[in-house]
Amino acid sequence: PATDVDQEAVLRRYAAAAEDAHAELTALDRHSGDGDFGDNLRGGLRDAVAAFERSGGSAFTVLGTVFLDEVGGTSGPLLGLLFTEIARALESGAGVSAWAEGAAAGLAAIQRVGEAKVGDRTLVDALAPAVDALREGGDDAFAAAARAAADGAARTAELRARMGRASYIGDRVKGEPDPGAVGVALLFWAVATAAD
Ligand code: ADP
Ligand code: MG
Ligand code: MG
Repeated sequence: PATDVDQEAVLRRYAAAAEDAHAELTALDRHSGDGDFGDNLRGGLRDAVAAFERSGGSAFTVLGTVFLDEVGGTSGPLLGLLFTEIARALESGAGVSAWAEGAAAGLAAIQRVGEAKVGDRTLVDALAPAVDALREGGDDAFAAAARAAADGAARTAELRARMGRASYIGDRVKGEPDPGAVGVALLFWAVATAAD
């Protein structure tokens, strides 16, 4: 069976991935938005690592609190909901089913607040397929979720935006993926590599 995934390891890998992807995420959000998504994601993850190192506790509880309370942009509070739901689910385990339950609850919370559906060119287009892959379970579920999220993010390049800033500029956003979806794919990459 797939192993347990340690949330502190995921936080650290995710933070490192956001450092590496900062320039790309900034360029993508310049293309379709206001250019701050790279700063929002990297800044929130830096602050979360620092807060976790100061106070300890549950890495995803800290991550959720930082994104809900401190990170700006549309993505800050939406990702804060996802991280908080993952933290809640991980109180009762760290295996595939706990990660699946947390990611599914996070997706539901994000859709309740943001009202985006699959195909609207948002981070939901990476998160929803990752949730499906985790729910399917199996030995390879974390790797499958990472692939599903990355594929979902890549497919947003062909979508016209119906939510958020990118919707203001119509078809001109096409050709490049949605920055928030790419940022969510990094989370599931971090989970999958922490599972190895
Ligand atoms: P802002 O547009 O306020 O600067 P960010 O740059 O922090 O926000 O985040 C932009 C990302 O937020 C987008 O790439 C998209 O994935 C996501 N997003 C925007 N609106 C929604 C929504 N209603 N539901 C889910 N995600 C959304
Ligand atoms: Mg932005
Ligand atoms: Mg902004």
